[in-house]
Amino acid sequence: MDLNLTPAELAFREELRAWLKANAPADWEKHRTEDEMQKEVYEAGWAGIAWPAAYGGRGATLMEQVIFTEEMARAGAPPLANVLGLMLIGPTIIAFGTDAQKKRFLPNILSADEIWCQGFSEPNAGSDLANVRTESKLDGDHYSINGQKVWTSYGWAADWCALLTRSDPNSTKHKGLTYILVDMKSPGVEVRPLRQMTGESEFCELFFHDVRVPAENVLGQVGDGWNVAMGTLMHERATLGAAVQIAMKRQFDRLVELSHTIPRNGHTAAEDPVLRQKLAQSYVEIEVMRLNQMRAITRINQKGVPGPEGSIQKIFWTELNQRFQQIAAELLGPYVQLTKGSPAAIDDGIWAYSFLRARGNTIEAGTSEIQRNIVGHFVLGLPKSY
Ligand SMILES: Cc1cc2nc3c(=O)[nH]c(=O)nc-3n(C[C@H](O)[C@H](O)[C@H](O)COP(=O)(O)OP(=O)(O)OC[C@H]3O[C@@H](n4cnc5c(N)ncnc54)[C@H](O)[C@@H]3O)c2cc1C
Repeated sequence: MDLNLTPAELAFREELRAWLKANAPADWEKHRTEDEMQKEVYEAGWAGIAWPAAYGGRGATLMEQVIFTEEMARAGAPPLANVLGLMLIGPTIIAFGTDAQKKRFLPNILSADEIWCQGFSEPNAGSDLANVRTESKLDGDHYSINGQKVWTSYGWAADWCALLTRSDPNSTKHKGLTYILVDMKSPGVEVRPLRQMTGESEFCELFFHDVRVPAENVLGQVGDGWNVAMGTLMHERATLGAAVQIAMKRQFDRLVELSHTIPRNGHTAAEDPVLRQKLAQSYVEIEVMRLNQMRAITRINQKGVPGPEGSIQKIFWTELNQRFQQIAAELLGPYVQLTKGSPAAIDDGIWAYSFLRARGNTIEAGTSEIQRNIVGHFVLGLPKSY
């Protein structure tokens, strides 16, 4: 594994940094919405970095995609509005879509003119995703969709949904599933936002009542939905860590800064012997996380597909983030509970938000237990878990 960037990667980073410097005021997350952010990035030619140029991307390497994600996080830019379209669903359409589907959907994903959500999980199909029950039944040249999805991030904002359905009612498990692209404005689609403990409604329940979807919207082969869905999940775990690592490092640096001003036992928190140990340990772990990310990227570059490193990284950063938020809470004291808008809140309540939001990290994109099962089986050769 080579930890140094190549001359081409360094040049790419310099070009991006120059663009960010010219276009990004220091506090731009306060002034731009996620939607505006993506349009700006798109117009400057930075959307879909690793997508092939033929589909409107930049044809850059995966490492350059990681550099882009890192630099955006370093600049404190808001996330892009169509993050699921760009990171997960677009690449799945590139891999499995017909020419007509690529032409129809990819440009609007890049420009954020159409926002996407991922409709996989159901009340009885989370970790055990192969238990999907939402039904798709062929009726002439349309499918009729009935069923329920849950925890659908951005469901409230989405124009389209990548939906995993059961097209063969007699099938079980991984067989008989079909991946279908559903217009969220179709009659019979009902979206109910779910309120999270952070106070926001990032995800939703989706209900489908006799929703008619053209048969041409099936992505990949009918009955081969499991294979297509795995393509989506593979992208989900591959590069997510890059932005998180930089975002955590920024938060860590801020916590160290605050530790010099927060009083503790007649001194500052920075002088507290126990907190110093914990801050130093967090620093070490954030560095380990960076190296794990490089290892995962090296593996993809060498073998073409993500390996179990994606699971190691997912377990590591999500559990580290929870430990880190706990340390921040200890250091900041009761003020950490004050949320956005409270006059006495530190950093406008971001610490309360981060503490609460970190709980979902070990659940979304596959729970820690599921990631450990993957490591146990594929890395350690233990028997498969059922
Ligand atoms: C913030 C957030 C955003 C999300 N966004 C989306 C989205 O956009 N689209 C989408 O489709 N889904 C989304 N999800 C859903 C997510 O993928 C599921 O919550 C996750 O896969 C777990 O499924 P579950 O909630 O049904 O829990 P369950 O699968 O019921 O698990 C319950 C508990 O049992 C454990 N468990 C289950 N099976 C095993 C096993 N074999 N071995 C050991 N332990 C096991 C789990 O680890 C967990 O602790 C999101 C979730 C969160 C928290």
